[in-house]
Amino acid sequence: MNRLAVRCTEINKKFGDSSALQDMSLELEEGKFLALLGPSGCGKTTLLRLIAGLERPDSGTIEVGERIVAGKEVFVPPEKRRVGLVFQDYALFPHMDVGANVAFGVRRDSNRPRRVEEVLSLVGLRGLEHRMPHQLSGGQQQRVALARALAPRPTVLLLDEPFSNLDADLRVRVRVEVRDVLACAGVTVVFVTHDQEEALFMGDLVGVMNAGRLEQIDSPEGIFHRPATPFVAQFIGTADFLTGQVEDRTIISEVGHIPLQQELPAGQIVKIMVRPDFIDIEPAETGRGIVTGRIFQGIHYLYSIRLPSGAVIRSLQHHNREYPPGLRVALRMNPGHRITYFVDERSAGGYVIGSGQAVSEVCDEGESRGDEH
Ligand code: ADP
Ligand code: MG
Repeated sequence: MNRLAVRCTEINKKFGDSSALQDMSLELEEGKFLALLGPSGCGKTTLLRLIAGLERPDSGTIEVGERIVAGKEVFVPPEKRRVGLVFQDYALFPHMDVGANVAFGVRRDSNRPRRVEEVLSLVGLRGLEHRMPHQLSGGQQQRVALARALAPRPTVLLLDEPFSNLDADLRVRVRVEVRDVLACAGVTVVFVTHDQEEALFMGDLVGVMNAGRLEQIDSPEGIFHRPATPFVAQFIGTADFLTGQVEDRTIISEVGHIPLQQELPAGQIVKIMVRPDFIDIEPAETGRGIVTGRIFQGIHYLYSIRLPSGAVIRSLQHHNREYPPGLRVALRMNPGHRITYFVDERSAGGYVIGSGQAVSEVCDEGESRGDEH
């Protein structure tokens, strides 16, 4: 294992009576890019402020570059932590030109002008040293903020929703640039966003937070395909849940019988996650589902299907499959997808739907599109 750039161990932080972070533990290796995602108010900014030294934890320890910077009787001030911060609003000094903004955190004895030139060319702004912040576009200001944070060679760079002030088009362009610049700089990054697409694109690792806790940290694919909790499943991508019951090493559900991959007691109730692209529908008089709604998305229709229990699941269909609300449909599982199931809100396992009709009894009797395969 590489050196750890950041380690948080069981951090707790309260503001008054309300808990902003609870037993938060996190490890990040040097050079990795962690995208932290979670709903507003879940503690993302608080975590960054604790790592930067702008807040003190109530308990727990924080290490930066394998040195304890906050813990029992230890508190290293922000300027001694080798942590860089980029905020939402960039916070450039309006009365200083680009060069002075970038030079701000660099020690005088360390050949300041050369370092400023170096980071400005890294972010593609060489030659703009004498511009004032108000003479720059939003994207350029963003890059100055990045250059200023990188100039003192931080061990860790923390970015708190850095693109939220940019419009959608620019945002997509800037995130590609920023990712490349940071990869080039080789710095360890904790990047906070509330945009899941951005998190999946930017991160080597994605962390999902909820109500002051870290629910899961994994590769982008791991988070999406193997969510640890229903919250993560729902927060990343679109997910619907169905109730199932264990019987004879099988989960019985309304979308079919799913073979169990491990021991669970008979009668155990489980929560099954399905995504709209898992579910195929086909008009059928004897079908179990009824189309209750559809959303036109251009390339696709997103259908809502009500099942006999009253549960509603969604199905993604190509736009040429146009079905009216009220239509009765048979359902089947598309092969190649992993159905994750949860017991007591934790993932208990998953089953990958094989080719053909791997999940039995998905269609109603007399209704078997699976035979075509
Ligand atoms: P996020 O960045 O994920 O939106 P924050 O870390 O800003 O969330 O906030 C987490 C929780 O802590 C919220 O409930 C917020 O109201 C509260 N909080 C954050 N900072 C303070 C503060 N300085 N004083 C009181 N409450 C705070
Ligand atoms: Mg925040």
